[in-house]
Amino acid sequence: MIGQHITELDTPSLCIDLAVMEANLNSMMSYLKEHGKNWRPHVKCHKLPVIAQMQVDAGAIGVTSAKSSEAAVFIENGIPDVLIANMMIGEQKLQRIAKLCAIGDPIIACDHFVQAEALSDVCRQNGVKCRVILEVDLGMQRVGIRPGPDAQQLARGVNKLPGVELVGIMGYEGHLLSETDEEKKQKQIFTVLSFLEELRDVMLAEGMCCDIVSAGGTGSYQITAKHPAVTELQAGGGIFADRFYLERCGVKGLTPSLTLVASVVSRPSLERAVLDVGRKSVHPDIHPPTVPSMVSGKALNDAEVTQLSAEHMTLKLGPESQNLIVGDKVIVSPGYSDHTTVLHNEFVGLRDNRVECIWPIAARGKLK
Ligand code: PLP
Repeated sequence: MIGQHITELDTPSLCIDLAVMEANLNSMMSYLKEHGKNWRPHVKCHKLPVIAQMQVDAGAIGVTSAKSSEAAVFIENGIPDVLIANMMIGEQKLQRIAKLCAIGDPIIACDHFVQAEALSDVCRQNGVKCRVILEVDLGMQRVGIRPGPDAQQLARGVNKLPGVELVGIMGYEGHLLSETDEEKKQKQIFTVLSFLEELRDVMLAEGMCCDIVSAGGTGSYQITAKHPAVTELQAGGGIFADRFYLERCGVKGLTPSLTLVASVVSRPSLERAVLDVGRKSVHPDIHPPTVPSMVSGKALNDAEVTQLSAEHMTLKLGPESQNLIVGDKVIVSPGYSDHTTVLHNEFVGLRDNRVECIWPIAARGKLK
C-alpha cells in the first residue's frame, strides 16, 4: 500500500494527514512551552507508541493513559514515564503495575486510601516503589476525592505508605469544556483549578512533595495552561483536532487531521447516497460525523448525514452533490476520534495524499 494515492485506498480506511497532525502536535507543544508547562498528552485518541514517541521527541515529558495494560504497551515500547490517570483495583493490575515499575516509571492516580494501600503492599512485595498522585474531583463528579479536608487527609495517609511515593495531584475539568463564552470559561476553569492550588499549598506547607499538578484536556488546555499552579497538561486529542474541540470547545489554531475514506455503495434515489461506513467504523458519540468532501477535493456542501447503522451511512444530498455515483470515494470527518480509533486495526498515514505508513493500533483493546 505504501505510495498508493488516497483515491486508490480500499474502504473504509482510517487516515491521518501526517503533515497536519505534526503541525497540531508542534502547535500544542509550543503553546505549552510558551506558558512554561510540561506536556503529558493522553494517548487515548491514538493508542500508538510511534505517535507517543513523536510527542516525546517534540518535548513531551511522558504520556497519560487510562488503563494498566494500555500503559504497558507504551512502557514496553520505550516511553517510561506514563501517568495512569485512573484508579487501579485488583491483584492482576497491581502485579502488572509492579512489573512496569521495574522497567519504567509509571504514576498511578488514586482517590481513596484503600487503592494506594493495596498498591503499596504489592510494590513492597515486589521490591519496587511506585509514584502516585491524588485525583481531586474538580466538579465533573466522575472520580476524584472531594477537595478540602478530605483530600488533605488522603494526602497525609498516602504520604506515609512505604511502597508508594506521593508526587503530586491531578484533576480533570472535563465538565467545563463547552462553555461558549471564553471569559466565563476561563473564570470557571480557574475557580476549579484553585482547588488543586489550595491542596498543593497545604501539602507543601506540611512538607509533602507536590511536584506534579496535572490537569487539562484538549477542550481546555489553552486556558488551563495559563493557571500558575498547573505544572503539566494531559491534553492529547488535539493532534487529531476533532471538530468537537473546534466547534464545541472553541479551541483555536488546530486543524482536523483524522478522516475516513469511504465509498458510495448505493444510490437508491436522487437525494440519497449510502456509504460503506457505519457505527462499526465511525462512532457518532460526543460529536457527529460529517462528509466535507470527495477524495478528489470537491466540496460536498449540501450533503448531510441522516442515518448511521452498523455498516451504512445514509446521506441526504442537495442539488450540488446529486452527481455522486456508486464507486465515488468520499471523505468522512469523525466528530470525536477516541471512539472511532478503537474500531480500527490500523491508521493509514498520508502525506500529500499518498500512503507513507501503515500503523497497526498497538494499544487497541488494551482495556484491563
Ligand atoms: N485527562 C483525563 C483524565 C481525561 O479523562 C481526558 C478526556 O477524557 C483528558 C485528560 C483529555 O483528553 P483529550 O485531550 O484527548 O480530550
